[in-house]
Amino acid sequence: MLRLTVLGSADAFNSGGYLHSAYLLEGKAGTLLLECGPSVLAGLKRQGLNGDSIDAVLVSHLHGDHFGGIPFLLLEYLFESPRTRPLLVAGPAGTQEKVEQLYDCYYSRDHLDRLGFDLRYIEIAPGDELELAGMEVGAFKVPHGAEPYCLGYRIEDSSGGSLLFSGDSAWTEDFVERSAGVDLFLCECCFMDKITDFHVSYAQLAANRERLGCERLLVTHLGSAVRQAADLDAELAVDGQVVELGA
Ligand SMILES: [Zn+2]
Repeated sequence: MLRLTVLGSADAFNSGGYLHSAYLLEGKAGTLLLECGPSVLAGLKRQGLNGDSIDAVLVSHLHGDHFGGIPFLLLEYLFESPRTRPLLVAGPAGTQEKVEQLYDCYYSRDHLDRLGFDLRYIEIAPGDELELAGMEVGAFKVPHGAEPYCLGYRIEDSSGGSLLFSGDSAWTEDFVERSAGVDLFLCECCFMDKITDFHVSYAQLAANRERLGCERLLVTHLGSAVRQAADLDAELAVDGQVVELGA
């Protein structure tokens, strides 16, 4: 069984008072933190966690609300919850440079030399397939306007649980093809009706719901209008929600 805990389900604006993007995936052989927004420590600690179970961090793109919590996670490991196990941080090209710049901006780059554990980076290109925390991860490029690119991921655990994650993305026909057979499609949904080339709207998801091959659709990264809307034919993610995937 693959267990998903929603640590943060808001957009960049913490709409509705919800936390920035972060999802904990606990699989048969490891634990993956998918996205690491600035409020990640609040998200973990509300679940009684300090992050020590995390084997790898995977981010979709280098916008602040998705990777800006990595320095805080490292700070936690440095001072509050000392770590000795290696940590993998995976994301698009430029992830290591951006994380180091951000850490230096927040605190001091010197900290990174005395973390006390091996911090390794994997930079992912569209089309790459890799194993992280015992899970098979397939990366594909999605339309979002982030530099150098934004990735969506299809993740399959050795337990059989699987999900498709949109990252931040405009609607793309790729979602129809790649959602085939997954237990869950975790899809961003920033707007109600507004059509843009960088985020999905509820109207687009509703119009295409029958074409998606996922068992369950959970919408997240919710903008304020979606969060407040009544009578939506969609399941809205909430912080702290747990979803069990697979057998
Ligand atoms: Zn973004």
